[in-house]
Amino acid sequence: MSKITFGDNPLDHSSKLRGDIKWQKNALQSDKSKFMIFYEDRPLIKTDPANRDNPKIYWLSYQDVKYLLDQKVITIFLGLIGENIYYAIDLNEQNNESEKLESSLSNAKFIDLRSIAPMINNKSAAVIAQAKSIFEWNKSAIYCTKCKGVELEVLESGYKKKCNQCEKEYFPRVDPVVIMLPFHKNKCLLGRQNIFPPNMYSALAGFLEPGETIESAVIREVKEEVNLNTENVIYKFSQPWPFPSQLMIGCLAEVDSFEHEADEDEIEDSIWLDKEDLTAIFVGKHQKRIWIPPPMAIAHQLILEWMHKN
Ligand SMILES: [Zn+2]
Repeated sequence: MSKITFGDNPLDHSSKLRGDIKWQKNALQSDKSKFMIFYEDRPLIKTDPANRDNPKIYWLSYQDVKYLLDQKVITIFLGLIGENIYYAIDLNEQNNESEKLESSLSNAKFIDLRSIAPMINNKSAAVIAQAKSIFEWNKSAIYCTKCKGVELEVLESGYKKKCNQCEKEYFPRVDPVVIMLPFHKNKCLLGRQNIFPPNMYSALAGFLEPGETIESAVIREVKEEVNLNTENVIYKFSQPWPFPSQLMIGCLAEVDSFEHEADEDEIEDSIWLDKEDLTAIFVGKHQKRIWIPPPMAIAHQLILEWMHKN
């Protein structure tokens, strides 16, 4: 089991079945199929009035969603768990349908993923993240970028598109981001950007650039943001981040000095902290009232990881 939010997807993606039109037609109508519904990037969630901390994905059957499939919705195949077949449907701006579903089903509500992720179990959060990223790609990649105005054909159950004029193929994109915690001896370095809420500090981060390895991106970002030389890049774990579709690559960056200088355009303030400081932060008792991102953020997990190694 992964401690990383969105990192514990239980589905067998069964990518070979995506393009099997006959299999998909039967599977869609089978009594083993289950459908998650999305509206404006929000999944339909079954809330429990008796226990607010126990929300679930509101899975519907083929009979429940049959009428929706005849409308202008986007349907994607998510994968399998044993004999069960999982799909997701995006209502694609059909406002009436979203209201009807919320009012006709008991305790059903479309809830945005940032709000629901900390409360829902980690496997469900990962499945929602998968669907959300694929839907956002489907809704943004509509036309061929070479042939003006030519609409792309949807293939592979929503995982591929193709221009039938120039044959160009399109696939869902993932944008890699390196996120790293610099450390030296018994201290680690946290920084804050001016867009952060007051007193929040976090690990450093930046997009991986074309031509870079993960290691060279970490070394470059640490140099650019706090002017420190990284001697050792230690990869720890990664996290799909479905806003809309990044991959956060979490690393520790061992640097050669405490003498740093933050780039004021990127980092408003930075601070070296030892394990005692971090312990105080985790219990909300740091003297400067510093706090860090919540557990669903990979930065939080990186800080914990470093603390446990020291
Ligand atoms: Zn084209």
